[in-house]
Amino acid sequence: MNSIINNLHDIQKRMEDACKKAGRKLSDITIIAVTKQVSTARTKEAIEVGLTHLGENRPEGLLDKQVEIKNNATWHYIGSLQTRKVRKVINQIDYLHSLDRISLAEEIDKRADSNVNCFVQVNVSGEDSKHGLTPEEVLPFIEQLSIFPHIRIVGLMTMAPNTENEAIIRSVFKSLKNLQLEIASKGYSYAPCTELSMGMSNDYEIAIEEGATFVRIGTALVGTKEGTFNEGEG
Ligand SMILES: *Cc1c(COP(=O)(O)O)cnc(C)c1O
Repeated sequence: MNSIINNLHDIQKRMEDACKKAGRKLSDITIIAVTKQVSTARTKEAIEVGLTHLGENRPEGLLDKQVEIKNNATWHYIGSLQTRKVRKVINQIDYLHSLDRISLAEEIDKRADSNVNCFVQVNVSGEDSKHGLTPEEVLPFIEQLSIFPHIRIVGLMTMAPNTENEAIIRSVFKSLKNLQLEIASKGYSYAPCTELSMGMSNDYEIAIEEGATFVRIGTALVGTKEGTFNEGEG
């Protein structure tokens, strides 16, 4: 298993190249280290090399890691969140990437002590296996959120389809960007919608070329569970 610092240097170089192609600045993009598959020890290593934005997709994983490192990181909840688990996590995170229904917004609004930064999750590709609203549903959904004082829509999130076809992946990211611009142009105070959470280990360069401001990288950066166990076993 590679060290996180080596992985990070490689990723940053690729990100720089993608930025150059697109005329963007590296500093406009935040890397979220997706630590859902690795241990707290491995997560601490990530923090030590400067990766302070962490992504988790289960309440248990989040809360376990926070016992030791809560105040050293900015916490992103990137998984689908069951309504009954909102109470457990909502005041422990800085960003939620998976807002996709009114009942969830209602529960968040009820349980949150302060404003919650949310991304609306969009299923651009229309795959059955993916969570999120269809692109057509997004604007009407966001318009319904104005009644919830604790909900702040910072941007949109998507996952690219499982395909090797770069043109398809790129078109998904382009669509999300267009939708983000449309919503931002409405000027809703509770929904500035300036951010785009898109791009994972296999497609972050394309996502950056198409406007991502947050990339969510697990495997290529901190590795997976298997890798963590191999590490140290010689
Ligand atoms: C696991 C996960 C990631 C990271 O995926 P990798 O391919 O390991 O980089 C990103 N986003 C979401 C929503 C995830 O569940």
